[in-house]
Amino acid sequence: MTLAVCPGSFDPVTMGHLDIITRAASIFDNVIVAILENQAKDHMFSLEERLEMLRVACAHLPNVQVDHFEGLLVDYVRACGAHVVIRGLRAVSDFEFELTMALMNRKLDPSIETMYIMTSMEYSFLSSSIVKEVAGSGGDIHGLVPEPLVERVSARCRRKG
Ligand code: ADP
Repeated sequence: MTLAVCPGSFDPVTMGHLDIITRAASIFDNVIVAILENQAKDHMFSLEERLEMLRVACAHLPNVQVDHFEGLLVDYVRACGAHVVIRGLRAVSDFEFELTMALMNRKLDPSIETMYIMTSMEYSFLSSSIVKEVAGSGGDIHGLVPEPLVERVSARCRRKG
C-alpha cells in the first residue's frame, strides 16, 4: 500500500491545493492532507475551520484523509507509516523555499522522499493569500476555492478585509 502526506497551511484550501491533492490521490493508494499547526504564523482561519473546510473539499475523494500535526514534518510522516511527502510547485519563486525544505527534511530523515506535482496552468497564479486579498476587497472567488466554501470564505474575508 502506498501512502503520501500532503502538508500545508491551507488558509484556506484553494482549487490549486485540491488539484494537487486529487492528482496525488490518483497516484497513491492513500493520501493524508495534513495541516501544520504553526503557532508562530498568523492564520485567518482557525485550525478547526481549516480542517473542516479541507474535509468538505475532499469529501468526494475516498482515499484522502484530513489531519493535523505539530512539530517536525518528518516525525509526523514516519508516525503515519509513510515515506513520501507531496508538495505543489507553481513558479520558480516556490523553488528555493521548497529545495531548502526538501534538503533539510532529507537530512533529518533520508528514508522520506519529497515529490513535487507541477501546478495546472489555470491555477499557477493561485494562492491562499491572493484568495484572501481578492475576497477581502469584495471580489468574486468562484472557481478559486471549492464551490461549497465560496460563501464562507468570502464572508470571513470581507469581515477581516
Ligand atoms: P505552506 O505554507 O506549507 O506553503 P500552503 O497551504 O500555502 O502551505 O501550500 C501547501 C502546498 O500546496 C505547497 O506545496 C504549495 O506549493 C502547494 N500549492 C499551493 N497553491 C498551489 C497551486 N495553485 N498550484 C499548485 N500547488 C499549490
